[in-house]
Amino acid sequence: MLRYVNYDVVFQEIPGEITLAINLSNCPNRCKGCHSPYLMENVGMILNRNSLDELLDKYGGAITCVCFMGGDASPKEVEELAGYVHDKTGRRLKTGWYSGKPALSQDCLIEHFDYIKLGPYIEHLGGLDSVTTNQRFYRVYNRAMIDVTEGFQKKK
Ligand code: SF4
Repeated sequence: MLRYVNYDVVFQEIPGEITLAINLSNCPNRCKGCHSPYLMENVGMILNRNSLDELLDKYGGAITCVCFMGGDASPKEVEELAGYVHDKTGRRLKTGWYSGKPALSQDCLIEHFDYIKLGPYIEHLGGLDSVTTNQRFYRVYNRAMIDVTEGFQKKK
């Protein structure tokens, strides 16, 4: 069961989108130097279609994208909720997933996402804005994942 600790409307996580970022708990990845260790606990409110509807009723008109931050303990549930957002809004809202896993779970349908970030946080390599990062950020087109990580890195 997915749970979320909090959420925010953000502008940088998905370039070009106004994103409702939902921070999911029970993260199994245990990255050293984790930015939010409290997300490793199984805490927060249940995230299902009903609670997502409540968030969309509140913020759906002001955003262009919903991004699931984490949820790697239940990848199929994340994928199904992303599909639900697409179906409910006729794909007016895009969907993203910030996963800490190195690869997309085999049983997840990629077409339910428009954006996917993959990779655990490795302190000495840095996050998406670091040129040495191991993490990758993809735009999904026609079920293909296009690596657009460079867009996060400042030109020198
Ligand atoms: S994936 Fe994110 S939340 Fe999970 S341990 Fe790594 S940095 Fe922390």
